[in-house]
Amino acid sequence: MAEYNPFDNVVTVVKEAAERLGYEESDYETLLHPERQMEVSIPVRMDDGEIKVFTGYRVQHSTTRGPAKGGIRFHPAVNMDEVKALSAWMTFKCAVVNIPYGGAKGGVIVDPKKLSKSELRHLTRRYTAMISPIIGPNQDIPAPDVNTNPEIMGWIMDTYSMLKGHSEPGVVTGKPLAIHGIPGRMSATGRGVMFTCKNILDKYSIAIGDCTVAIQGFGNVGGTAARLLYKEGFTVVAVSDVSGGLYKKDGLNIYDILEFTKKNPGKLLEDYEAEGVEHIPGEKILKTECTILIPAAMENQLNEQTAGNVKAKIVVEAANGPTSLEGDKILNERNIPVVPDILCNAGGVVVSYLEWVQNQQAIYWEETETNAKLKHVMDRSFGEVWDTAQENKVTLREAAYMIAIKRVVEANQIRGIWP
Ligand code: GLU
Repeated sequence: MAEYNPFDNVVTVVKEAAERLGYEESDYETLLHPERQMEVSIPVRMDDGEIKVFTGYRVQHSTTRGPAKGGIRFHPAVNMDEVKALSAWMTFKCAVVNIPYGGAKGGVIVDPKKLSKSELRHLTRRYTAMISPIIGPNQDIPAPDVNTNPEIMGWIMDTYSMLKGHSEPGVVTGKPLAIHGIPGRMSATGRGVMFTCKNILDKYSIAIGDCTVAIQGFGNVGGTAARLLYKEGFTVVAVSDVSGGLYKKDGLNIYDILEFTKKNPGKLLEDYEAEGVEHIPGEKILKTECTILIPAAMENQLNEQTAGNVKAKIVVEAANGPTSLEGDKILNERNIPVVPDILCNAGGVVVSYLEWVQNQQAIYWEETETNAKLKHVMDRSFGEVWDTAQENKVTLREAAYMIAIKRVVEANQIRGIWP
């Protein structure tokens, strides 16, 4: 089996879509190279007095359509190729939903569960200081991603503001509400996933009441998607997290599961018990018989080993890069439509954009307005991707990339190459 390199995956997808658009290599060559890559060594004095040095990254893939934008993840498996791929996906994500940003991503190689709160704060502050020369509200705007949250975004905002000598809320999004966060940001990615599920069901004329769902990942994205889909009347038959999965043929009570995880911090799905709920091994979630399968965890889940076993009718990608090139090919051959990550999980960055707009202007509005704007952008973008796929007889992923690449290349051509 070829070793999985997420950036090679991006390069292949970009080349194919650009060629389909009739572009010459020189038109899209810049998209195959991140504009800027930074690697930093982050010393942290641990609680026991020992000094540990962590490695962190910030990659800016593109700033052609606006400031670079993208989250920061804290995870032991972070590496430069992953961060490069994630930064490129941000460029295309922002382009496909047409918000005025380029793409970036950051990461630190660390398991934050093994750090105390104060170690985590020190790590975040020092990492922020080290990437501070290249971030800023008009330059590059971080946000939450895997294992990072509003509290951590608050530390980033404060560190950057202290270095500048004045408060700078627009440097980061996904902040706590008390320091210029936006109501609705936490649930935005999951809400966007829910809108996407409704949009795709509509196209296949499947009623919500007839739709069963399996979700891999029960963090901020998977958990929120589960909650909102359940609220809308979808039957969520299976969910999973790192500890394993839960299954119930006639539908899990998602509110009860969320209540359990909320009331018992640190407890995982394997600890949950309820009548009729079966415990299943985590990897079984991808084989669940259902209408929609939602991978909402990490990259490379649907690959040459797993894609052949998918029993869902449709895949909706809530994670970034959950399907490898080989996995994608297998799903296409099996006629299982895949709604691509850059469209489906864009809700988070769309509401990040609204937060940043509010910060830059110091004007604030109600959550209902935010959610309505999010729905509008998700529905419009889905419609454009669907129509492009139909017109060109291509997959939804190819269509999404065609739209995104066209927008970035056009902006590149108008701006030209400096000097
Ligand atoms: N980390 C999220 C993503 O992958 C959100 C990024 C942002 O809001 O800037 O889309």
